[in-house]
Amino acid sequence: MTGDRDEGRHTDRTDTHVKRTQAGTLTTEQVGRQTKVQGWVHRRRDHGGVIFLDVRDRSGVVQAVVHPETTPDAAAALQPARLEWVVEVEGEVVRRDPDKVNPKMATGEIEVRVETGRVLGRSEPMPFGVEGAQDASEETRLKYRFLDLRRAGLQRNLRMRSDFTIESLAYFREQGFVNIETPMLTRSTPEGARDYLVPSRLNHGSFYALPQSPQLFKQILMVSGLERYVQFARCFRDEDLRADRQPEFTQIDVEMSFVDEEDVFALVEGLFSRVFPLAGIEPPVSYPRLSYDDAMRRYGSDRPDLRVDLEITDVTDCLRDTEFRAFQAAIAAGGVVRGVHVPGASSSSRRQVDEYADIARRHGAAGVLWVKRENGVPSFLVKSALSQGQVETLADRLGVEEGGMALLVAAPEPTAAAALGSLREEVGRRFGHMRENAHEFLWVHDFPLVTWNGDEGRWNATHHPFTSPHMSDLDRLESDPGSVRSRAYDVVLNGNEIGGGSIRIHDRDVQKRVLALLGIDAEEAERRFGFLFEALSYGAPPHGGIALGVDRIVMLMAGADSLRDVIAFPKTASAVCLMTEAPSTVDQEQLLDLGLRIRPQGGR
Ligand code: ASP
Repeated sequence: MTGDRDEGRHTDRTDTHVKRTQAGTLTTEQVGRQTKVQGWVHRRRDHGGVIFLDVRDRSGVVQAVVHPETTPDAAAALQPARLEWVVEVEGEVVRRDPDKVNPKMATGEIEVRVETGRVLGRSEPMPFGVEGAQDASEETRLKYRFLDLRRAGLQRNLRMRSDFTIESLAYFREQGFVNIETPMLTRSTPEGARDYLVPSRLNHGSFYALPQSPQLFKQILMVSGLERYVQFARCFRDEDLRADRQPEFTQIDVEMSFVDEEDVFALVEGLFSRVFPLAGIEPPVSYPRLSYDDAMRRYGSDRPDLRVDLEITDVTDCLRDTEFRAFQAAIAAGGVVRGVHVPGASSSSRRQVDEYADIARRHGAAGVLWVKRENGVPSFLVKSALSQGQVETLADRLGVEEGGMALLVAAPEPTAAAALGSLREEVGRRFGHMRENAHEFLWVHDFPLVTWNGDEGRWNATHHPFTSPHMSDLDRLESDPGSVRSRAYDVVLNGNEIGGGSIRIHDRDVQKRVLALLGIDAEEAERRFGFLFEALSYGAPPHGGIALGVDRIVMLMAGADSLRDVIAFPKTASAVCLMTEAPSTVDQEQLLDLGLRIRPQGGR
């Protein structure tokens, strides 16, 4: 624990003015010295007239003892103090009797024998104890967030977040980046999710939008020649309820000129090598790179958790000649048969196998089949469906070892991939194939440029509309858009996407073609993105960047369970701040001023 410069870590009796000491820093070294501690009453016990107060400040807790016979004034002053009152105590640091030493407390060998004391602030009875706060409901804790934040765990998380931010900015500065603030009041340009709108009073009937990301501003800064931009950017997305999502969140937003994918990867790897050690995590110097296609084929996910080292194998070709219906039907319909071998899983009970099938069904598969090997002999779930030779071939291809079981899914490719992706992680974990304490980073790149939106019958940008296609695929942009690879990438840690970005389109005409593919006609494109086309017309350098999710990264660093544990004032899943009760209604006056009228829900 570092001491502040203007606060004494300990003080001498000769000082005329005793300076404040941080409670948690007192040790036997200060025994015999005068000290002053200011903080909150963490615990109180009364023993035969003697008052024991554990006083807590940001550094920790120290026990203060008040003896009414020797210091009646201090006792009278502190007598009313209850849990979470703010007090000041001054006195001598003394060694505790050997039988009173508390080895669980950092300051457990000493206590402060109080000579003078006073109450600095009173507290109502607490809605929950600071220490037992975990037991209070989340709603109560969020309503009294100012009390919840007194918990040591939350204070530690916020401190880690602060260190993370300051250290990151130092790194970017060393790398020649310029920290630039982009506007909060911007123009509405949906990036897939919904904008928060702000009505303009001065421009009647017009609205600003809060940024979903500073994407276009950072690209324009590249046209402006800044070359290296960074910002801890607050972003806003008015999305539907989803557990553990926040309507406002923070990204480290980065853009660089004259770079390719590898330059961005190296920058981020360097950053993580610098900041993850703050949490005792040492990332490797560089991470595996996996194309989207390979990630889906080998791990059934575009953000695989590589702590599980099982891989998916495609066995379609060795089953083409079998007569078993489940395989035949899938293959005839253009689907695949894939499997994942889980060593040790041959002991799975029928109930467990039913659970595996449920996992597969969640992703749209009909169920699971299996091949296992016991006593050296491989067997297949459906007796006599395959010849023993076919079972042998299948077991060999899947690498089924003695005591192992391979789970198989026969389905259209995306379904098989997703089902096996889940099975790989969930079943793999159950059989001990997950290295729980590892930190597995990886890059996934070359995502498809666009994804078909069946509901709306159109193409959506997989990343966002400003992501560059691979130039070698550009000739298929209109004829076979689904096959065009993009220069987008994600950085993944233990199955969590912690950042994503791309090399951008810097050619105005390519940008127009991509927008047209997304169903944005020329006129609308001009209206919404005219300023971008203009900018791209005046010497735009090749550029690319990334946005890293600060909340999620700090959550993983701190080992917290929820984003709410690393955000000082989070909102609930329904986007409400329970402390301030935002959002709220506003005065009729205010609405009139803005030219707005609220219509009753469901009315017109
Ligand atoms: N603007 C993108 C996002 O917020 C990130 C990027 O492409 O840099 O997801």
